[in-house]
Amino acid sequence: MIVLKFGGTSVGSAQRIRAVAHLVSAIAGRKIVILSAMSGTTDALVQLAQRIINAQWQEAEEAVAALEARYHSVIEELFETPALRKEVWQALAPIFAELQSQTHNEAFTQNDEKRILSRGEIISTTLMAFTLREYENLNAVHLDALSFMRINHNGEPEPQHIEKHLTPLLTAAPDPNALFLTEGYICINAFGEIDNLRRGGSDYTATLVGEAAHAETIEIWTDIDGLHNNDPRVVNVTSPVRRLHFGEAAELAHFGSKILHPTCIEPARRANIPIRLLNTLDPQAPGTLISCETSRDMVKAVSAKDGISLLTLRRHP
Ligand code: ASP
Ligand code: MG
Repeated sequence: MIVLKFGGTSVGSAQRIRAVAHLVSAIAGRKIVILSAMSGTTDALVQLAQRIINAQWQEAEEAVAALEARYHSVIEELFETPALRKEVWQALAPIFAELQSQTHNEAFTQNDEKRILSRGEIISTTLMAFTLREYENLNAVHLDALSFMRINHNGEPEPQHIEKHLTPLLTAAPDPNALFLTEGYICINAFGEIDNLRRGGSDYTATLVGEAAHAETIEIWTDIDGLHNNDPRVVNVTSPVRRLHFGEAAELAHFGSKILHPTCIEPARRANIPIRLLNTLDPQAPGTLISCETSRDMVKAVSAKDGISLLTLRRHP
């Protein structure tokens, strides 16, 4: 089993969705494809929730209308026939109707907000399922992330629960080339409500699913060629680091490297599953391999975070 996760920019337009569908359909063997929301969508949903909280009803309505218009044009570009566009729109229309119904919600709660935030990944996954069916002649097996991704009272994922609920879904589709498709980022919390793994959390979904499915590799596809040895916003010439140890990658992710969710290395490290960081815009590029292999005596990368102080506490023996 291979796990492949595609970030927001990798599925950020009709053209990119088509490219990802093509890429994953060419991979032999069993695979789980995990998607982020299309770029800009989660930000737009966060903003929508803020407007509802501020009782800016009119602005909230406009925000939903703008998002709806964006997806109309994505569908227009993605699918050729009016009948197909209609079919896809019918699948997404209830989501927009629900968002619209929230725009005047005076009793808007944090749960309502989390429910809204979860819609981005549900939309991108739906669009991908249709794209795979139409252009790659492939019926993906949809895995509803909300049926197996769970966090506990502290907001921490529950690996045992994930494995217990994911395994039967995978064994129910024994096809040696099965393509499973699921939403990144979203989950159920300890109260059974919709929640999420925090911003950028699809990476975390990928490694948790990889661990639960005993994957051979976890591929994280973005729009840059792996993890770079320096921050391009600070240093002009940077280059990708080809190999990193789990510990090194975790440090870099914690201290500013934006490419990976800070805690996402942990499940892969626990299960000793290598993570490959790859580039959808240049799929042949080697990217970065994160594994248990280590090479000593060498500074591999530098990352920086402004405005923090680090305090190390050590107990005296
Ligand atoms: N869509 C979510 C976000 O923008 C999760 C993710 O992309 O990983 O934060
Ligand atoms: Mg990301």
